[in-house]
Amino acid sequence: KVKLRGGGDTVLYKPGTSKMSLERILLENELRKSVQQQHFYLEYQPKVLLDTGELTGVEALVRWNHPDLGVIPPNKFIPLAEETKIIVPLGEWILREVCKRAEIEVAAGETCRFAVNVSTVQMKEEGFVDTVLNIIKEYHVPPQMLELELTESSFIDTEGMKESIQRLRSEGITVAIDDFGTGYSTFSYIKELPADTLKIDMAFVRDVLENENSQAIIKAIVTLAETAGLNVVAEGIELPEQAKMLYNLGCREGQGYYYGRPMSLENAKEIREYGST
Ligand code: C2E
Ligand code: MG
Ligand code: MG
Ligand code: MG
Repeated sequence: KVKLRGGGDTVLYKPGTSKMSLERILLENELRKSVQQQHFYLEYQPKVLLDTGELTGVEALVRWNHPDLGVIPPNKFIPLAEETKIIVPLGEWILREVCKRAEIEVAAGETCRFAVNVSTVQMKEEGFVDTVLNIIKEYHVPPQMLELELTESSFIDTEGMKESIQRLRSEGITVAIDDFGTGYSTFSYIKELPADTLKIDMAFVRDVLENENSQAIIKAIVTLAETAGLNVVAEGIELPEQAKMLYNLGCREGQGYYYGRPMSLENAKEIREYGST
């Protein structure tokens, strides 16, 4: 039987670990097996309007439920899944899972929007856009119900990435830039942002009450978004005071433990009205 250190705060896998390391090889094996056996599940975190607390959508977040190690958070396996390209079949499973849920919502007359995180490795995969379009068709999901959360590295123009993003958007799927403000946010790619939404990274939200630099950055992002006609979502709101401050800085939408942790879709939808500022 395979023995791996895991759970709690122990490091299961560090990006950049030698390809030959035993732990990495074991973990890669477990990951492949788990994709085949579908040992994953999704949690959904609410997104809300900051002024009224009204639910605007949910973000799907994957968890690995390993038979021996228990539940493993994405930060501990997504980097390895990306390096090994296991993220490609796993990402397809995630998208399918979300679309299955969306189909049920549609049948029930609901309009809840679903956001799905997509790795740059998936975006770069030949045929990715067709895969997405085929899956939403298969489950009869209106494209407007789906938002893909990409990181800034997906917007750097390599191998027709911009074209892929534009094709998705021309079909009605919306695109958000996740963790905005941390990565490659040089103003060179920002001037032609082919996106619908900017998600302000939680690093700026965490200290927004005491750090004037964070306030200034958030204000700048809001101004940029207004100029470019983009929507803004603030991530990682844990306190009502942060929500109020973000509202005053011009953010209208947010997400964070203050409103709700990632949870079952049923629970996320049950709380129709979240705390308002
Ligand atoms: P992300 O997409 O930026 O998601 C936000 C992360 O912050 C989630 O962690 C969420 O649980 C956490 N979070 C939300 N609100 C708060 C808050 O108020 N305070 C704090 N401290 N944290 C908060 P999670 O679920 O562990 O996911 C981590 C990252 O793993 C995600 O960051 C995303 O980059 C990646 N990930 C998660 N699910 C998927 C997936 O299905 N596919 C891909 N490709 N990546 C995923
Ligand atoms: Mg995200
Ligand atoms: Mg984020
Ligand atoms: Mg992140």
